[in-house]
Amino acid sequence: MSFSSLSLSDVLLSQLKQKGYVEPTPIQAAAIPVILEGKDLMASAQTGTGKTAAFTLPLLQKLAGKPIDKDADAIRTLILVPTRELAVQVNKSVTEYGVNTRVRSMVIYGGVSIDAQAQILADGVDIVVATPGRLLDHLRRGSLSLMAIETLVFDEADRMLDMGFMDEINAILKQLPKQRQTLLFSATLSEAVFTLSKKLLNQPLRIEVDKANSTADSVEEIVYAVDSERKAELLSHLINKYDWQQVLIFSRKKQTADTIANKLITAGVGAKAFHGDLSQGAREQVLNDFKKGTVKALVATDVAARGLDIVELNYVVNYEIPFIAEDYIHRIGRTGRAGKTGKAITLYSEDDALLLEELESLLDKRLPQQWLAGFEPDLTKAEPVTRKNSKSAQRQRAKKRALAGSKHKR
Ligand code: AMP
Repeated sequence: MSFSSLSLSDVLLSQLKQKGYVEPTPIQAAAIPVILEGKDLMASAQTGTGKTAAFTLPLLQKLAGKPIDKDADAIRTLILVPTRELAVQVNKSVTEYGVNTRVRSMVIYGGVSIDAQAQILADGVDIVVATPGRLLDHLRRGSLSLMAIETLVFDEADRMLDMGFMDEINAILKQLPKQRQTLLFSATLSEAVFTLSKKLLNQPLRIEVDKANSTADSVEEIVYAVDSERKAELLSHLINKYDWQQVLIFSRKKQTADTIANKLITAGVGAKAFHGDLSQGAREQVLNDFKKGTVKALVATDVAARGLDIVELNYVVNYEIPFIAEDYIHRIGRTGRAGKTGKAITLYSEDDALLLEELESLLDKRLPQQWLAGFEPDLTKAEPVTRKNSKSAQRQRAKKRALAGSKHKR
């Protein structure tokens, strides 16, 4: 299939050619016609499947095709995303794909001057890509209105809910016109996402590109069993032995990210931590160093890593299994993007046993463990796992984590 069969305009087609895209990805082939027709959509698609272009291209086409509204300040498309990094990334796609259209877009997120954003809004924009908190700040100040919104997009809806944005979402919804097109994208489809979809969408079309809660085939998943105190050593061994130039490492907590980065530096690997305690400027600096290759290993928390678009990422390491099993899918979706192959390596120690079981039950497949020569776990130390792991025990743990998560947004 070619992009030209999707009724996209010549301006957009030539830009896609310029970017070297030969054919649409499955989500693009399925979603673009539906969005152009003006229908509501609920799509489950993992990061790396080309979902950003799947909604950006038809939205640009619709905006460019309509005469500019008399009221030049009217925002016509709102794209809600969970994090600053994703906001920047999505807006970059909008700008790149729409470079030859007259559509104006901007990005809105917290941590930077609100006045500067209000000034750009006052000059008039068609598309706003925003995180919920800062968007509400602008609504309260009156620096933007959502009355003319024609299309609302929720990107990474599951993550937005995980991060506890429901109150903000409800407040924003109140200010949106009832008559609109709504598109919801989510990597995983949980109960909470379905509940949100019922509230938001009007007879939506469902598109499921990959099986929900599955991982991409282009990612090879490897689990190394290792004693927890030897994880850093094993990791620096892999990086050095195989001469990895770029690896994204995930930890569950900010402090652990700092500790891992320090251990790697001690072992001679250029590493930096990447998490929410860093200022926006510091995050951008770290990211640039990583993209340029001056930093080989980026150690990130799940929340901070959202929206990172590093095209050539070959390796992802789960230093620890995430508390929320769905995060594993997001994590390893950072590699094996757009048809490239990638490796996702999980460092598993005995204390991860229950989380691994939960993960395997979510993925509905086994993740067989292997030993790496020289790093075999010390079996004389391993304590038998006697804790219950019934479905109800799993549910209770999930509930506890959810409650803890809503108190302390990670
Ligand atoms: P996304 O899932 O939106 O994060 O996109 C993942 C990556 O795939 C991005 O780097 C895009 O630039 C790239 N991409 C998107 N669509 C295509 C396509 N049709 N052909 C090749 N690469 C693409």
